Amino acid sequence: MYDLIIIGGGPAGITAAATAINQRLDALIIAERWGGQTTYAMQLEDMEGREIITGETLLDAFRRQLDYLDFVRDFDTVVKVMPEEGHFIVDTRRGDRYEGRTLIMATGAKPQRLDVPGEARLTGYGLSYSAATHASLFLGKDVAVVGQGRRAQWAAADLARKAHKVYLLVPESLPDTPLTHRLRRTENVEITEQVRVVEVQGERFVEGVVVAQGSAEWKIPVKGLFVKLPRTPNSALVREWVDCDERGHIIVDVHSATSWPGVFAAGDVTHVSEQALVHIGEGAKAALSAYHYLLMR
Ligand SMILES: Cc1cc2nc3c(=O)[nH]c(=O)nc-3n(C[C@H](O)[C@H](O)[C@H](O)COP(=O)(O)OP(=O)(O)OC[C@H]3O[C@@H](n4cnc5c(N)ncnc54)[C@H](O)[C@@H]3O)c2cc1C
Repeated sequence: MYDLIIIGGGPAGITAAATAINQRLDALIIAERWGGQTTYAMQLEDMEGREIITGETLLDAFRRQLDYLDFVRDFDTVVKVMPEEGHFIVDTRRGDRYEGRTLIMATGAKPQRLDVPGEARLTGYGLSYSAATHASLFLGKDVAVVGQGRRAQWAAADLARKAHKVYLLVPESLPDTPLTHRLRRTENVEITEQVRVVEVQGERFVEGVVVAQGSAEWKIPVKGLFVKLPRTPNSALVREWVDCDERGHIIVDVHSATSWPGVFAAGDVTHVSEQALVHIGEGAKAALSAYHYLLMR
């Protein structure tokens, strides 16, 4: 029986595994995919080549610690997790069954993309999925944010402090919240509701977005586009017995502990804010909390 089983090989899972191994825990990390979701250096016309320090460099160091430890990794999909008396049983698609005293869920979330012409080509060239990482590169520029949920609202509020003008492009309508009230009063934020992005334009860098409302279509010239559409947390494996919020994020306390003793969670699958850099810390914290939990038993 393992001390700890970690499900997920993104920033949170990899850091959790490296931290657990450093504590000499008998740990196993199971992942469909090794490495996190897309991280990239943002390049802009007037600062080509400038790179923001993302979690990627840091993550590489943790990943290298695990690369030669074949016995701690299994590249497979977990299909079932069952809580048993004092331990957990984890079944994988290829038919392996593992048992662990503790569990870390680091399964991330499924992102929603725009799926329009220009999106893939201009990602990293003005198009970003992370305002927390890239907003500061757009000082004094005009930018657009697509989305309507809390993440889109935060991105618009953040960018309003840095950019010259922010177009908030809302696919349906903005909910009535204190933050949306504030955004509506913010001078350099222009909100358009019931609008669709149909194309991201630009030769090498983002130069504008084409949007549509009913039969009308027009172009908004911007240097940056932030895509903040809803994501679906990959929490189905434990959702029936671990507390989640209304959107399926696993609820964790400050020690990354969930409502089920011995189950910890880190990264995009939780309600903690998304950024690779943050999740590297969250993964390490979850592993240390699992270690402390084992020490107390
Ligand atoms: C397009 C895009 C661009 C982004 N750009 C940036 C950026 O520039 N800067 C930044 O800081 N953040 C960025 N983010 C956000 C960042 O990538 C995420 O916050 C981060 O990757 C989350 O880490 P995680 O470990 O929680 O999950 P993930 O990185 O999503 O990893 C989840 C892991 O769980 C595994 N998994 C899921 N289900 C199972 C299962 N059933 N069995 C086995 N394994 C499973 C997956 O294979 C994967 O290994 C971006 C996100 C996207 C989608």
